Amino acid sequence: MKKRVIIALGGNAILQRDEKGTFEEQIKNMKHAMGQVAEIISQSMEYQVVLSHGGGPQVGNVLLQQDAENRLYGIPPQPMHICAAMAYSQIGYIMQQTLTNELRMKGVNIPVTTILTQTVVDINDPAFKKPSKPVGPFYDESTAKEMARKMGWSVIEDSGRGWRRIVASPEPRDIVEKEIIRKLVDMGFTIIAAGGGGIPVVWENGILRGVDAVIDKDLGAEKLAEIVKADVFMILTDVNGAALLYGSSEEVWLGEVSVKELKRHYQEGHFKTGSMGPKVLAAIKFLEHGGKRAIIASLDRAVKAIKGKSGTQVIPGDG
Ligand code: ADP
Ligand code: MG
Repeated sequence: MKKRVIIALGGNAILQRDEKGTFEEQIKNMKHAMGQVAEIISQSMEYQVVLSHGGGPQVGNVLLQQDAENRLYGIPPQPMHICAAMAYSQIGYIMQQTLTNELRMKGVNIPVTTILTQTVVDINDPAFKKPSKPVGPFYDESTAKEMARKMGWSVIEDSGRGWRRIVASPEPRDIVEKEIIRKLVDMGFTIIAAGGGGIPVVWENGILRGVDAVIDKDLGAEKLAEIVKADVFMILTDVNGAALLYGSSEEVWLGEVSVKELKRHYQEGHFKTGSMGPKVLAAIKFLEHGGKRAIIASLDRAVKAIKGKSGTQVIPGDG
């Protein structure tokens, strides 16, 4: 049987730091990313890949579009969870098309599709009591406070650049479409799911409802990894792994590391909240749920990393 690997792609698979996000840029970046994924799938036919991806900047753009369309044409702005659905469908479409093309060029014909995923969060999650993620357009103070009153938003002054809405980042608890995802993966198809961590929803008296929040994509992908009982969880980003004392002159990049040792480094505060922190936490969770190997590596070195020859390789045990 093939080994199952979840690959979570970071923002750089869609957009590079100096880019605007044109269609051509997105296709170029995704072609590179899916080229790596196709290489992993086709090289030894040893791995079955399940994909996930980020999407913060893309949801941000949809939010700005809602604001502009409302001012220009009076089109009613949609709630943030709808904007997330729009952004993750766009990314899923680009991914499934470029991956299909990259696979076919290698003579591999595996059907690829995206499952628009609802990720369950708990309305009593402490994160809802202290929203932390700035989203959407910048407003002046009085407009921001007006929006807060009218819409029930939380708003803050964002580092001297103006006022913004802030939303919670709750923990992903479950995936509504898990049976469908599991079944399709079992059938051998290549599935893209839990994009952007998934669209946040809550169960309320047996009824699903979308909520405005941001789920961390690395933690969302880890849930997906649990659900399909993945062997390997690979997080691809723009640096080749996790480092201790990152950015200092004594920086040390971690190669093979046991989950116990990594947990100690995490508790010592080596990994920044909102970037490397959630990746390391997701890797730890995966191993604690019985996963065999978690990898944090550079997208450009994905093929070496899956063979254990690059990036941070997290293994079970306490060695
Ligand atoms: P992604 O879109 O892939 O999730 P992020 O920007 O969220 O990317 O996370 C990757 C970034 O994490 C790197 O570019 C790096 O600057 C930052 N980072 C923070 N702490 C560390 C660390 N200890 N080791 C390595 N990278 C770190
Ligand atoms: Mg990130």
